[in-house]
Amino acid sequence: MTAVHVPGAPVIDGGVLVSSSPATGAEAGRFPVASPTDVTAAVERARAAGQWWAALGFDGRRERLLRWRALLAQRIEELADLVHREGGKPIGDAVVEVVTAVEHVDWAARNARRVLGPRRVRSRLILAEFSGHLEYQPYGVVGVIGPWNYPVFTPIGSTAYALAAGNAVVFKPSEYTPAVGQWLVDTFTEVVPEQPVLTAVHGLGDVGAALCRSGVGKLAFTGSTATARKVMAACAETLTPVLVEAGGKDAMIVDSDADLDAAAEACVWGALTNAGQTCIGIERVYAVEPVFDAFVEKVVARAGRLTVGPDGEDIGPITMPAQVDVIRRHIDDALARGGRAVLGGTDAVQAPYVRPTVLVDVPEDSAAVREETFGPTLTINRVRDADEAVARANALPYGLGGSVFGRRRAVAIARRLRSGMASVNSTLTFAGMSTLPFGGVGDSGFGRIHGEDGLREFGRAKAITRRRARSLLPSMTFERTPADVARLVKVVKMMYGRG
Ligand code: NDP
Repeated sequence: MTAVHVPGAPVIDGGVLVSSSPATGAEAGRFPVASPTDVTAAVERARAAGQWWAALGFDGRRERLLRWRALLAQRIEELADLVHREGGKPIGDAVVEVVTAVEHVDWAARNARRVLGPRRVRSRLILAEFSGHLEYQPYGVVGVIGPWNYPVFTPIGSTAYALAAGNAVVFKPSEYTPAVGQWLVDTFTEVVPEQPVLTAVHGLGDVGAALCRSGVGKLAFTGSTATARKVMAACAETLTPVLVEAGGKDAMIVDSDADLDAAAEACVWGALTNAGQTCIGIERVYAVEPVFDAFVEKVVARAGRLTVGPDGEDIGPITMPAQVDVIRRHIDDALARGGRAVLGGTDAVQAPYVRPTVLVDVPEDSAAVREETFGPTLTINRVRDADEAVARANALPYGLGGSVFGRRRAVAIARRLRSGMASVNSTLTFAGMSTLPFGGVGDSGFGRIHGEDGLREFGRAKAITRRRARSLLPSMTFERTPADVARLVKVVKMMYGRG
């Protein structure tokens, strides 16, 4: 019997986690909840599997990861449908999410050897008689904790790179999207049936906490800043290194020479895709005075055309039922404090749906500007010039992504944003570029997934020196003589002593 009360809210029914659609309440999957002992056992099994996986070498892993990529690509509709049924995401958005994930698996598989494999490193005159060797060795088991909003893209951003680097992975999906998490594990197991190289443990936050304490070599966390603090505290007990991909409140800047139609189109998508439940979603816009009115008009026209509903519409339900109250609070607060709704407003909130809402002239210290709203809402504020826009964009503790629309100064403005990533004349595009690192600063976290940095995140640098000749200037030995030390001083003064 299903014990689902609020559609979309996960329940534990007799030790079983049951997930459901936020739109219809239909059950999406049920999975046994892992006890702390189950989590430790999963990590121990993964440790042995990780040794086997690492021993396959870069080529063996590449071949298997590319087969997984092919399977994901072939079954894209099936996975997108499951993402839709469990999280409520419109199928089109789900397809785009899976496509991006497929690209990351492909790139990680193909580039792991080049980025992480053994290589010679040049030595310098001071230790010229030694050669240097560098390689990145796997941590053994990486724990991955993922959120529900991009249940394919976010875990794969860590998992594919960790696997390519030679680690086994124990994955704790969000309690809202366990079926999608298990689907990823099951399809990987189809192509790697020999050992439990990628496994899942299911349950609520306490299962994630148990994973932090389970003896994993590294913990990759994607989720809210508040939970990131708990994850770091738990990992600190055992000095387990962590990667933190946390929340954001990304800003878009519209400069005076921007193409306003392109800016409005990208803004509406960047803010409202996935019903605004996107860590790198545009939540605030700063448009310079001369283009402000025209820009707002274009955004409202486009956002006002979007459809909202359970199937085939542009905007689906809010996945996490409790989030609806947060969205309502942000809208109400903005309006009470002098902001204006030029589209939507308080009435737009009809759980589990929220119609697109565009707020203007919202005070900078209100919740709608400062806190993650995670809904299909947007604030657009007027600024004097690009400098003021940058100052306001940078005024929050978050610093994940951002966007700039303009011509002459756009790249320079993007560089000044206090964020890990930025898109010029587009929104969110850096997430799909597998060659670029992804991650934030400040409250948005640290460490990087994707790209070369993302691969290195899952390998420990191992440095080896090897003697290749007798030392001409013996220094690191008790056999050195005072004359050797004097010669050393002379050489150093000659080499480095001039300014
Ligand atoms: P949460 O922080 O609530 O949860 C994230 C994961 O952590 C879930 O699997 C959760 O399990 C688990 N968890 C909860 N408590 C603990 C604990 N004490 N110890 C260990 N793990 C725990 O985030 P959401 O799932 O609500 O995701 C939304 C957030 O994620 C937003 O802030 C968003 O910006 C951010 N995000 C960041 C991204 C990035 O790349 N920077 C990408 C996508 C989202 P359970 O669900 O069972 O509680």
